[in-house]
Amino acid sequence: MTKKLGTIAVRGGLNTDTQYGSVVPPITPSTSYGFTEFAKPRQFDYARKSNPSRRLVEETVAELEGGVDAILTNCGMSAIHLLCVSLLTPKDTIVAPHDCYGGSYRLFNSLSQRGQFNVIFVDQSDPKALADALMHKPKLVLIESPSNPLLRVVNIQLIAKQAHDVGALVAVDNTFMTPILQRPIELGADIVIHSATKYLNGHSDLLAGILVFKDQQLATDINWWANNIGTLTSSFDSYLLLRGLRTLSARVNIQQDNAQHVVQFLLNHPKINCVYHPSLPTNQGHDIARKQQKGFGAMLSFELKGDAAKLPVFLKHLKIFTLAQSLGGVESLICHPATMTHSGMSAEARKVAGVSDSLLRISVGLEDKDDLIADLDHALQHL
Ligand SMILES: *Cc1c(COP(=O)(O)O)cnc(C)c1O
Repeated sequence: MTKKLGTIAVRGGLNTDTQYGSVVPPITPSTSYGFTEFAKPRQFDYARKSNPSRRLVEETVAELEGGVDAILTNCGMSAIHLLCVSLLTPKDTIVAPHDCYGGSYRLFNSLSQRGQFNVIFVDQSDPKALADALMHKPKLVLIESPSNPLLRVVNIQLIAKQAHDVGALVAVDNTFMTPILQRPIELGADIVIHSATKYLNGHSDLLAGILVFKDQQLATDINWWANNIGTLTSSFDSYLLLRGLRTLSARVNIQQDNAQHVVQFLLNHPKINCVYHPSLPTNQGHDIARKQQKGFGAMLSFELKGDAAKLPVFLKHLKIFTLAQSLGGVESLICHPATMTHSGMSAEARKVAGVSDSLLRISVGLEDKDDLIADLDHALQHL
């Protein structure tokens, strides 16, 4: 019987305790595991390599993404760094989106400046620019769709095929969508990346990252590096993450529904310049999103009319939305990418990526949608 994603998420790791039959799996903090006899380790031997709590999360997320295996790391950036370290040598090239997550942009840029590999940032929705980048025969092509913060959507299936044709591996950062709304392995990806800090955990109380693999050999090779470097997640955080995953499907569906209402409200408001959300026909890649995604997600961004000097006034009057980094939690957050998430990019690079100084990004939470809209409405009245 193939289970639905909501069921897989709720039931991850349940009833696996053989000693007491506890329904919820225990937290296993032990760093060491006894050998059964000389030269006979058990499933786990030392916790840098793996531990029972972490393994349950890996199995659950691998199943959710339709992969064969997964590696849980201590944050999203360490998952992406692990990929770089294990796959790329100084003669290799990575092709990444010009508007990728600010932290990924900074990582690729700084490591390439040290000569650890070459990076080409490209607008992947531009067929000519992408083709030119692929002529460099990259080892790895990173895709992020929808992008951050403009929610541009690219055709994962098409880019994956073109990347495979030049011998590249394809990794998709699926943080914004979660497997509930998009399953990149079905679209041709070899690796799925998540900042599990965001929707997978959903409660903004731990950092974690995960890599999910289509192929076991690649997973085994990269796991060797994970143990070599030491990228693991603690048992306690793994336990919390598994707990958060149980409500993933319910959370994502309600948050996405709330987001749709917020989008409609902003669209019709005279003080709003433009709204970015994959549900809008004006959004780059809207037609692709309709086919590629099972929903349009709960992230959106918008620009206020007039000059950026008005931003602090608007933000000051919000009572529910918190001005904070991050996304994907049950609480609604608002962020100013130019000074927050994307401050690691130069003003020039931000301009190329379309991140203006008057852009605001919202992660819509689980609060009542009427309260969220009333909060925005009230703050907009002060402009
Ligand atoms: C947050 C985020 C990351 C980095 O994850 P951390 O857990 O903060 O290290 C990577 N990619 C995307 C799309 C993100 O939103």
